Amino acid sequence: MSSVSRKASTRCWRNKDLKSITLKAGRERSVLKGHPWIFSGALADIPEDATPISGETVEVCDAKGVKLGLGWYSPASQIRVRMLPLGDDVSSVVGAAVGRRADFFAQGYTNAVRLVNAESDGLPGVVADYYAGFVVLQLTSAGADANREVIADALMTFAPFCRGVSERLDLKDREKEGLRIAEFENLRGEEPPDEIEITEGPCKFLVDVRKGHKTGFYLDQRDARMLVGSLANGCEVLNCFSYTGGFGLFARACGAAKVSQVDISGEALAMAKKNEHLVHMCGTEMEYVEADVFEYLRKCRDSGRKFDMIVLDPPKFAAVKSQVMKAARGYKDINLLAMKLLKPNGFLATFSCSGAMTSELFDKVVSEAAVDAGRSFQIVTRTRQGLDHPTLLSFPEGNYLKGVILRAVN
Ligand code: SAH
Repeated sequence: MSSVSRKASTRCWRNKDLKSITLKAGRERSVLKGHPWIFSGALADIPEDATPISGETVEVCDAKGVKLGLGWYSPASQIRVRMLPLGDDVSSVVGAAVGRRADFFAQGYTNAVRLVNAESDGLPGVVADYYAGFVVLQLTSAGADANREVIADALMTFAPFCRGVSERLDLKDREKEGLRIAEFENLRGEEPPDEIEITEGPCKFLVDVRKGHKTGFYLDQRDARMLVGSLANGCEVLNCFSYTGGFGLFARACGAAKVSQVDISGEALAMAKKNEHLVHMCGTEMEYVEADVFEYLRKCRDSGRKFDMIVLDPPKFAAVKSQVMKAARGYKDINLLAMKLLKPNGFLATFSCSGAMTSELFDKVVSEAAVDAGRSFQIVTRTRQGLDHPTLLSFPEGNYLKGVILRAVN
């Protein structure tokens, strides 16, 4: 017996009746390195009478029959099996993920925290975001969907001062897994209010967990909002793709002279305006512009308007690898335009949340934009998704959000 098989055979499975999935020879390598995804092409044929149902927990073995671990089976998806941490039940994995966020609650900076970050917290396709006592779930794998009840119970138990757990079922990713698309549903405890007020540092935001983007708010940009704010004192700021105001309101809270919030969505801007009034600060002139950023930046160029700081936080331009080059052109366009609108010494905070776009490619795009704009920049700092969005070292796909704050030096 090889050392691997000896080790594996002594592992204690909780459920002895699990169906077994066998990998083709050589396809166990990425599993052994800790990557959680097994694609359909890696699986050997499954006998008809042993085919697992959607979301079933299965035992995964290599071609020689050595047990590699447990996974969730997704028959409708190209990602056919998602591996789970060894030896733990779902409830305790949820508890451990929540426990790792204890510092967030202790620090008191915010009461809006991602409690479970999917694969990287050992729960593939499970996202749980906490907004001032209300937890909102998104379940985007068949296994996550099949374990809804135990996940909801665990969150009710482990999330601090939990008032209720609800679920967003409108995410397109559910379709890829053959899961139903539906309206928002309350799973446990109190129904959340239409707008939940959260605190993030010096700001307060209203979050619409039923219709807002993601589970309602871009928690992943928390650290970047703080950094942008810290540089914004006295600045005239153009916040592009503002959503409900995040970066612009941080700039305002930190003493910006003027903030222009630009978004294509009138609803997002209406919420941004409400958020402005939650914190009473005076002195910053606020402007709200409902426009396409690509067009608005050109309008500013044509009118000769200049800014001390520009934030570019666009939606995902590339969902899959095949869209990356088109996305790169989009990123270059807005970055080039923005760079030309900066006053000397001005700041550009530019982001990409396209997972398919590597940070190397993003850097290249931004560098090329700078050359074409005829401007020279310092990198002030780089950003990633916040500390409550950790990623497994063995799962680079989890690193979707990258950002860089630049300062023009000419
Ligand atoms: N920076 C925000 C999140 C931005 S999300 C925060 O920290 O909360 C991306 C936003 O871009 C969405 O609000 C969406 O309405 C907006 N958007 C998408 N395409 C756009 C376009 N072409 N022009 C302007 N806004 C756009």
